[in-house]
Amino acid sequence: MVFECQDCHKKWHYDVKVCIFCQGNVTEVAVKQSTVRGFTKVEIPSPGHTRVPYCDLLLEDDQGNFQIRKSFTEYKLGDLIEEAPKELKQEARKRTVGLIGAGTMGRGIAQVSAQTGYQVIMIDRHEEIARKSLSKIDTLLSKTTKEDVKQEILGRIKITTNFYDLEHADLVIEALTEDMELKKEVMKELENECSQNTIFATNTSSLSISELSQVLEDQSRLVGLHFFNPVPRMKLVEIVKSKYTSDRVVEFAKEVATEMGKTPVVTGDAPGFIVNRLLLPFLNEAIDKFSDATSSAADIDKAVTLGLNHPMGPLALADLIGLDVCKAILDELYEGYKDHKYKPCKTLCIMVEKGDLGRKTGKGFYKY
Ligand code: NAD
Repeated sequence: MVFECQDCHKKWHYDVKVCIFCQGNVTEVAVKQSTVRGFTKVEIPSPGHTRVPYCDLLLEDDQGNFQIRKSFTEYKLGDLIEEAPKELKQEARKRTVGLIGAGTMGRGIAQVSAQTGYQVIMIDRHEEIARKSLSKIDTLLSKTTKEDVKQEILGRIKITTNFYDLEHADLVIEALTEDMELKKEVMKELENECSQNTIFATNTSSLSISELSQVLEDQSRLVGLHFFNPVPRMKLVEIVKSKYTSDRVVEFAKEVATEMGKTPVVTGDAPGFIVNRLLLPFLNEAIDKFSDATSSAADIDKAVTLGLNHPMGPLALADLIGLDVCKAILDELYEGYKDHKYKPCKTLCIMVEKGDLGRKTGKGFYKY
């Protein structure tokens, strides 16, 4: 589905009734479709995860032209695939996205942004950190992408330590260490360096976006864009609207997430947003169940993977996230909602105190 404004011809990939830019009428426009005539599929092994499907699709358009397209989504023979109109792809290429913080998340968001066709400016404290991140992106892309395409993607990522390089960015996403004072300092600097039209986003998992926006003169321009780890693989982006974020900025965030191939969901600025608020009490309960010593960790995980059809059991997942991180999020939820159901259970507190934090320390519910 593609929707187009009849007045300014702006396009969206999701249902929009009124244009957010000129208030014109938006109507659905016909999209070119291709039929899947053949495919090959390999599964890429990915440690600790289910295998990732990687397909070559042989497509035939309505004029009988054939093309091959790569896809991480599986299709059946005869499935219809919509072609994004050319103007949309070109528009995506025109955007410039700044990333502050080239760690785990900043690196992932930079990779996906460059793969979308955006120009990317990646900033960290030292150029060396950003350079190492770029080299990790190179290694990751080498596993799935042809050399010439990879070079084109890498060529869109510029690394720097200078905030003034962000002057003309359309969007700047901060993915800095989870520290409110640091993020506030950087936001202030961004407002000095960027144009008035630049939209700011934060990838914070737990900090209040309304509080962070208090250092800005224009608080309506900051929105939460909460990506999930690993960014290239995870489809969801939570779009977090603070009490000041404008509707125009939320629409822009949805549009960018969609262009990146992600599915956006909108939520308010409250502890845990959607996913962590639901997930952490579940992990906490699984840990509490483990402590009654009637089931092994492996049996609890097996019950959840087979009984609830989850790709991974809660104890293996807690080990992957890090038990200290799980406890910190539960503390945050408990503090925010003052509800006993979020209180970290005794076993979790003891394991964190002992330093058994999961994969990162080699021991959690399992040994690594
Ligand atoms: P990380 O520690 O891997 O990366 C943080 C980066 O910020 C580092 O490269 C560090 O050098 C850089 N940095 C610190 N101070 C800086 C400064 N003054 N100027 C420039 N760069 C600076 O952290 P991460 O896991 O990528 O998390 C980043 C953000 O994303 C946090 O807000 C976190 O809550 C959020 N988040 C993390 C995950 C996850 O699974 N790791 C998932 C979703 C959201």
